[in-house]
Amino acid sequence: MTRDPFEWIGDRAAARLRAGLVRELRPRPADADVLDLASNDYLGLAHHPEVTRAAADAALRWGAGSTGSRLVTGTTELHTELEAELAAFCGFEAALVFATGYAANLAAVTALTAAGTLIVSDAGNHASLIDGCRLSRAETTVVPHRDPEAVAKELGAHDGPALVVTDSVFSVDGDCAPLARLAAVCREPGAALLVDDAHGLGVLGEGGRGSADAAGLAGARGLVCTVTLSKSLGSQGGAVLGPAPVIEHLVNSARTFIFDTGLAPAVVGGALASLRLLRREPDRAASAREAAHRLHWGLTDAGLDAVAPDACVLSVRAPGPEAAVHWAAECRAAGVAVGCFRPPSVPDGISRLRLSARADLTDEQIAEALETIVRTAPRS
Ligand code: PMP
Repeated sequence: MTRDPFEWIGDRAAARLRAGLVRELRPRPADADVLDLASNDYLGLAHHPEVTRAAADAALRWGAGSTGSRLVTGTTELHTELEAELAAFCGFEAALVFATGYAANLAAVTALTAAGTLIVSDAGNHASLIDGCRLSRAETTVVPHRDPEAVAKELGAHDGPALVVTDSVFSVDGDCAPLARLAAVCREPGAALLVDDAHGLGVLGEGGRGSADAAGLAGARGLVCTVTLSKSLGSQGGAVLGPAPVIEHLVNSARTFIFDTGLAPAVVGGALASLRLLRREPDRAASAREAAHRLHWGLTDAGLDAVAPDACVLSVRAPGPEAAVHWAAECRAAGVAVGCFRPPSVPDGISRLRLSARADLTDEQIAEALETIVRTAPRS
């Protein structure tokens, strides 16, 4: 008998099972009885009637798909409106929309670097930035988490173009990068700064204008931001924001832009409606941050080990991967959906419950969430 070429996959599955690290796909229940602290719908806009109506109208007007790549038939007037309004809202000269935030990050890192560029990357960066570094022809050095001095040292030792890459809000623990200090460190040697603001847009800055706005850096020279449309805007897709020549360069060179089908009209219409809502109702961002703080106070008051949130992401430490999975399942059975992070998604081997605060949480829902999470916590 010939050898099964996929035998090694079975070995991997067995090892995963032994370590308690098996991942399963479970459809999200459609019932409204579950309190959702697991999604990234920070502003509660994914189901907002104006947003879903705009998405439906866009599909009816422009079709279910965009029909081609952006440079051929995949650009509708909705795409160009979204790009103009997103750039203006966040305080940048121009924006370019991609199929996902992941694709936007791959594009930004690869298009802004070349052989001979030094990339300085924070150790806590999102997988999409890491993959962008791997895809680029540049040399990447990883620096300790949130350490501008280490960045300065790397930049000082390098002669030539450099790109510093960081998340604004780190997706595992919800802590923030020291953006103002990083920008200052980049200024002298003329390094570019790329900030992934996936968790900052809609939550940080005035009325949710994002992390660059919060740090007083919106539109700053040398700064490029990426965002996702799939979290606070409740839709799907990603974007790169920056100086007009950088965006024009991406249109002409970013492979995930040129060789990918344009974003579907429905999600562009949905994201545009969310953005307009956010402009009209700027208090949503502050409400989301306040909900995060209230959840954090309640958890720490009850003696749980929760990281103080800088935005809407809340991380609560669990004793191990199996305890974290069990804890999340108990919460879910009690009607509170929470996320669960464990290796290899978290490189340091610490397992966590991951909660997302939302602007539309009521006092009763916050109390219910706290009661459930505390009651089901593993006893050590
Ligand atoms: N960056 C960060 C920090 C993220 O958390 C995510 C989503 N998990 C992404 C980028 C990717 O965005 P998208 O889901 O739109 O591809």
